[in-house]
Amino acid sequence: MSEETQAPAKKKRKIVLDERLQAYKGVWVFVEHERGHIHPVSLELLGEGRKLADSLGAELAGVVLSAPGDEAKEYCNTAFEYGADLCYLMQNEVLRDYRNDPFTRGLTELVNTYQPEILLLGATTQGRDLAGSVATTLKTGLTADCTGLEIDPENRSLLSTRPTFGGSLLCTIVTLNYRPQMATVRPRVMAMPEQQPGRSGRIIEHPLAMVETDIVTKVLEFIADDTRDKPQLPFADIIVAGGRGLGKPENFQLIWDLARVLGAEVGGSRPVVQAGWLELDRQVGQSGKTVRPKLYIAAGISGAIQHRVGMESADCIIAINNDPNAPIFDFAHYGIVGDAMTILPALTEAFRQKLATLKQAG
Ligand SMILES: Cc1cc2nc3c(=O)[nH]c(=O)nc-3n(C[C@H](O)[C@H](O)[C@H](O)COP(=O)(O)OP(=O)(O)OC[C@H]3O[C@@H](n4cnc5c(N)ncnc54)[C@H](O)[C@@H]3O)c2cc1C
Repeated sequence: MSEETQAPAKKKRKIVLDERLQAYKGVWVFVEHERGHIHPVSLELLGEGRKLADSLGAELAGVVLSAPGDEAKEYCNTAFEYGADLCYLMQNEVLRDYRNDPFTRGLTELVNTYQPEILLLGATTQGRDLAGSVATTLKTGLTADCTGLEIDPENRSLLSTRPTFGGSLLCTIVTLNYRPQMATVRPRVMAMPEQQPGRSGRIIEHPLAMVETDIVTKVLEFIADDTRDKPQLPFADIIVAGGRGLGKPENFQLIWDLARVLGAEVGGSRPVVQAGWLELDRQVGQSGKTVRPKLYIAAGISGAIQHRVGMESADCIIAINNDPNAPIFDFAHYGIVGDAMTILPALTEAFRQKLATLKQAG
């Protein structure tokens, strides 16, 4: 091949970090909480943050913004047990319930004072709202809904990976000239780390000079989001999911039957939600929920990338599909090629018998 026709070798761009950015050190995780409970995504992020901090040889900090009281210290203690070395604690009555104004001001002030190089938040309603306004105020980069985070060993940059182009591609985003590097991650995308009871760390208290009259938004009443009756797909151990391959809504009963025997949650692909066979809360995938069960049974689901990104972290995936070339067989752990209408009732009956035998045996 002549030199002219050869494609020029692609050079890897060397990133040299601006000197003023080198002062930023450490990994932070915003500890989201409500009425005494830390959101599980914050604990998952502490696990991920621990890995990032270890690769950087830096410390991992939890950031707790809360009303004054014993609970605030409890949040810090929990953060230590999930991997944090220290916690930045800001207490003020205006931080009792989440409002954008005081939380943005508080978190921005902490960042400007202590200068972390990475700041992670859960991609929850609160986390998304706060991350956007903090990143805008700090004039730094934010990568939303990341599915992978790692450190570039050459220059300490955070490589934030997320789906793009409607989920058909994964892209990795780097914040070159601004700090901190911010990212949000959805619940259940990262694994829950082991709790280490009794593990402790340092608390750095920082005041917030703000009073109620500084804030335009007022909380008149707190109405708890009653999620108990709603599906808890992201935290289910077993999920039985159905797709368009089930043909008609009545056939979806086969999914419910198997789920009932297994004590599982029911999920589905986007077309079945759009067709009204299943409620929106049960959609799995890029525009639905991200799940991480021990067992995911997918019947009549092709395995499109937008579905895959929401469930591929399951420990065990069993796919039932009548097309042996369906993409789901490329990543399922077990595949059953056949008609879901025959296989689902057979599985339900087999599990029913097995569970009855186990029950009899005590
Ligand atoms: C921006 C965007 C966001 C999206 N978000 C999501 C999302 O969050 N979640 C999601 O699921 N999708 C999402 N989608 C849609 C996605 O691209 C696919 O269209 C969708 O996942 C396909 O659903 P399905 O597998 O149920 O249907 P199909 O792709 O139609 O697959 C049906 C499968 O059933 C099999 N089948 C047919 N009959 C039987 C039978 N009798 N027994 C067994 N198998 C049978 C077929 O072989 C086929 O593989 C999104 C798309 C876009 C563009």
